[in-house]
Amino acid sequence: MSVDTAEQKKTLRDGAFGNATALACRECGHKIELGPHYACPECFGPLEVAYDFPTVTRAEIEAGPANIWRYKALLPVPADIEQSPNTEPGFTRLLEADNLARELGLTKLWVKDDSTNPTNSFKDRVVACALSAATELGAKVFACPSTGNLANAVAAAGARAGIKTVVFIPSNLEQPKQINSAIFTDNLIAVDGNYDDVNKLAQEIAAEEDGWAFVNVNVRPFYAEGSKTLGYEIAEQLGWRIPDQIVIPVASGSQLTKVDKAFQELIKLGLVEDKAYRIFGAQATGCNPVATAFKAGVDAIRPVKPDTIAKSLAIGNPADGIYVLDSTRRTGGAVEEVTDDEIRQAIVLLARTEGIFTETAGGTTVAVTKKLVETGQLDPTLETVLINTGHGLKTLDAISGLVSPRATIAPSYDAFEAAGLAQD
Ligand SMILES: *Cc1c(COP(=O)(O)O)cnc(C)c1O
Ligand SMILES: [Zn+2]
Repeated sequence: MSVDTAEQKKTLRDGAFGNATALACRECGHKIELGPHYACPECFGPLEVAYDFPTVTRAEIEAGPANIWRYKALLPVPADIEQSPNTEPGFTRLLEADNLARELGLTKLWVKDDSTNPTNSFKDRVVACALSAATELGAKVFACPSTGNLANAVAAAGARAGIKTVVFIPSNLEQPKQINSAIFTDNLIAVDGNYDDVNKLAQEIAAEEDGWAFVNVNVRPFYAEGSKTLGYEIAEQLGWRIPDQIVIPVASGSQLTKVDKAFQELIKLGLVEDKAYRIFGAQATGCNPVATAFKAGVDAIRPVKPDTIAKSLAIGNPADGIYVLDSTRRTGGAVEEVTDDEIRQAIVLLARTEGIFTETAGGTTVAVTKKLVETGQLDPTLETVLINTGHGLKTLDAISGLVSPRATIAPSYDAFEAAGLAQD
């Protein structure tokens, strides 16, 4: 969004971004004013929201609403954020997963189930923060390039906020994800290309058109902060405690790095005890640029052409890949990968052990957790959390051949018995 700087200063209201003070470059630390910017003017490094946090207490947070706005003091949103129409995502369940833990050989495991967000993926969190920034900046169009879930979240949030949405997706995307966007917007644009092509197109449009807020392009620093709420919630739901180990799926890598940032902030604010924790990233072998770099011990990410059923993780050139390497290496974690077959099996395993139907991204996370235990990279005696980021109803095709009715019978007891279903 090319907004004139002088004009923007005039129209921005006080406290538009809450306790955020600037955009800071992750590479060189250079700071610029808050606005629709995502690249450092000095070195082109990615910009990140910087804050001057007031004292925040557990009691204040606990008294807040049962959604991400309970953490509004720690987000780049105004104090009256609850007044503007939004999808009110977050504060999803943190489920003890004893059955899955037993199956995987872990002592203690929780599943953070983000499939229950308003559009059934964790993307509602980041979109809510991006929508706030877009609104404060006076954007006329709310847009995104997407691997599917982001488009669903943007289209729904825009409908509720009454702002025009335009969402761009790769044309080979799963049908359910297409419908889950088209139901909310007239402007679902299918692009003949992969996600990285769609993303490039979005960057061109953002540079050419006035008043377009692309959630994950020109307002990306604000969008990214939404992922911190996953980290805050997990800590609060564990009784204000950071878990020993956490397994997180990696597409662009933003979510993983922001959960790390959230844990660091909670420690600095004195909301949790300072402790060591290990962060693990999960990728599909069909799109494994970060896992490959991790294993090779190198700092550079070599882009790949994605070919996996885990389409929501299919970003071949991940913007935050190098920071995923930082977080996982710094904390003693790892980035692991699994095949499409392992992903399918893990979707069924989670469903049969915990009654949670996850999409392919969650299958990736469960399968990677299993592999990390088997290869001794994850300590089975330490408390572990894994994040389920999306709902299985969006990726039915992935497992359609794996599960089916056990029998089809006539509506009679004889038929029931003949099919061997009677209990003798
Ligand atoms: C987008 C997405 C991710 C990964 O998000 P990044 O922050 O880009 O790494 C994980 N799971 C699901 C279901 C997603 O839609
Ligand atoms: Zn810089």
